[in-house]
Formats: sequence, structure tokens, C-alpha cells
Amino acid sequence: MDEPVNSPASTPIYQSAGWIFRDLDEVDAIYESRVRGAVYGGSGGPNHWALEAALCARHGAQAALVTAAGMSAFTAALLSLAASGTHIIAARDLYGNTTRLLQDLQKFGMRLTFVDARSNAQVEAALDAPSAILVVETISNPRMQLAQLAELAALAHERKAKLIVDNTLATPYHCRPLSLGADLVVESITKFLGGHNDVVLGCLLGPSELVEAARSIAGRAGLIGPSFESWLVTRSLEDFDLRMNRSSASANAIARWLEGHESVHAVHYPGLASHPGHAVAKDTLVNGFGSALSFEVKPDRSAVNRFIRSLEHIKLVLSFGGATSTISHPATSSHRVLSPEARAAVGIHDGFLRLSVGVEDAALICADLERGLSAL
Ligand SMILES: *Cc1c(COP(=O)(O)O)cnc(C)c1O
Repeated sequence: MDEPVNSPASTPIYQSAGWIFRDLDEVDAIYESRVRGAVYGGSGGPNHWALEAALCARHGAQAALVTAAGMSAFTAALLSLAASGTHIIAARDLYGNTTRLLQDLQKFGMRLTFVDARSNAQVEAALDAPSAILVVETISNPRMQLAQLAELAALAHERKAKLIVDNTLATPYHCRPLSLGADLVVESITKFLGGHNDVVLGCLLGPSELVEAARSIAGRAGLIGPSFESWLVTRSLEDFDLRMNRSSASANAIARWLEGHESVHAVHYPGLASHPGHAVAKDTLVNGFGSALSFEVKPDRSAVNRFIRSLEHIKLVLSFGGATSTISHPATSSHRVLSPEARAAVGIHDGFLRLSVGVEDAALICADLERGLSAL
């Protein structure tokens, strides 16, 4: 190959399924980790390592595993930690796909109990067996409820249970769950870490022992993410703090503005003094309260349709975390498989909307929301 004598300033994209070995001794040295080398595209390479190092630094983690999606990070963690009979205790308002994945695993003999993760007493009562795994979100999606991570970690460890925290809404900009005692952290990079609505990727972080066990099974199961996506996100991380600083400040301002609007019945944002988890948020989060918020208008589908059609800037997108603000409607997306009664039980109705705040001027977002709200 015609290599230049000097190095590129940015890590090149290693778009290769296979790697060349000088001889069998080099194969042994790489397999035995005596030197760092890549073996196969499906087990990660330099672009994964660059992203893993950057994410470890942000989370204060010993090790990280970049996976094909946030859900693959969960799958790798559960495949490595759980067995038939393992008791999984999960927050009742976890992300819908996480809830359904845990339900799927019941057919392999895992036991599943749902708790209100805001209640330490409920979690403590559920933590019975020594092989338990507790799964919570730092900020839940879309209800924006907070769990007391440090207390839950202490309770889990008293019972020899492992705490897995999905930190997708908080991101390492606002929370580093490992420093609060979590055993493993899952990030859906697809959202704010990727930050541009163009990448699906995930990550698992924690102590080497747990992450390496997950890496080994993730490689066999084909759960490792692609090189190009890892490269794109390494690039996204360079301006991640700037984006989060801007969008979380805007989200705070927009939440306050929405709270004062006559057509808005409720606003769910941990930065608001009216939020029931505000005190927990102040203890758990740093640098603000995140860039996602939910709000409720009258539960009337045709009025909500008028709201959405009147928006000129904010688009209805069923993901979130991009640099451009988007809105979503959980009743017809993440919660659509539930009956209206089951949705009502978790507080989701036709007038429940989730806003993902991007890096635009907050005044522009409020003006667009005003257009929508006046059409209700
Ligand atoms: C999107 C999301 C996931 C799943 O991530 P994918 O990258 O879509 O697999 C998990 N948890 C939360 C809170 C999410 O928002």
C-alpha cells in the first residue's frame, strides 16, 4: 500500500472486514493481547477503540464496548450476566423496547418484576435472590422520572445484585452513573451522543471484567457496531459538550415558557421546581437537566394533528437527540402497542408530546411551539 510518511490528523476510517497477519506468531500475540491488533471486522477495530476511549474518558469508565445499537448493548449485558432463574427487577417506565426485550427473555427462564424505580422501598422489597439484576434509567423516557442512583446501587450491592443504568437521556454530560455506584451503563448513542439523527449505535461501559465478558459474547452474537458509524460518533463527540450546553439551557428555558402557557396542562422536565423529582435531579445531574422534555395538551387527536401540521420548524420524528429539535408522540409510537387504558396507567394519552431540544435559538423553538399551540 502507498502510505504517506506522516500521519493524518483525524483517525482514518478502517473499513475492513479482515486484517493481515505477518505470520502465526503475530496471530498468537494478537489473540493473547500481547500486542494490540485487530482480528476481524465483526470484533471491532481502531475506529471502535477510538470511540471506546473517548466514551471511557467521559464516563470515568475502565472499559467500553461499542455496539450496533443501544439495544445491542443491553442484549450483550444481559446475555453475559443473566441465566435461567435470574431475577430481573426493572423500572416500570423503561424505554418500550427495553421492557419488551426483558419480557422476551422470560421464555429463557428469567424472572421479571417491575417496580417504581423512584421508590427505594419497592426496589428493596423486590431484591430477594442473590442473582438479581436491577435495570433503571437515569431519566426515564418519556415521563422524565428520576431514580436515586446512588441509593439504588447501595441497595443492589447489599443483596449482591448488579445495577444496570440506561443513561441515554442524561448522557455523560449530565450524569456518570458509574461514579454513583452503577455496575454497567448503557448509552443509546443514536440519540444525543450521536447528535445528528444519522447514526444508530450503542455502548456499554463499566469495569473491565464485566465489559470484557459482554464483549466476548457480543462478538459471537454479531452485536458489534460498524467502523464508519464509530468514526462518525468520535467526530460528534468533539462538539458534544457545546451542543449539550446549548440544548439543555434551551430546554430549561422552553420548559419554563411551556409551563406558563394557557394551552399546556403539564410540563415534565427535571429542571422545573414543580417536577416531583427536582430534588433528586439536583443530586444526580450536573451541568443542567437535559435536553428532552415532555408536555401535555388536551388529549384530542385531531387537535394534536393540527398542532403538528402547524409547526414550521420542528418535525415529528420518532427518535430524538439531534442538533435540530424534533417532537414525538408516544401514544402512537413507543406506547402504541398498549391499550388506551394501559397507556393511561402510565400517564400517556393522545395529548402527551415529547420535545427533543436541539441547538437552535430557544426563541425560534418557542415561536414554532406557539404556532402549534394556537392551532389546538
Ligand atoms: C433509543 C433508546 C434505546 C435504544 O437505543 P437504540 O440505539 O435505538 O437501540 C434505549 N434506551 C433509551 C432510553 C432510548 O431512548
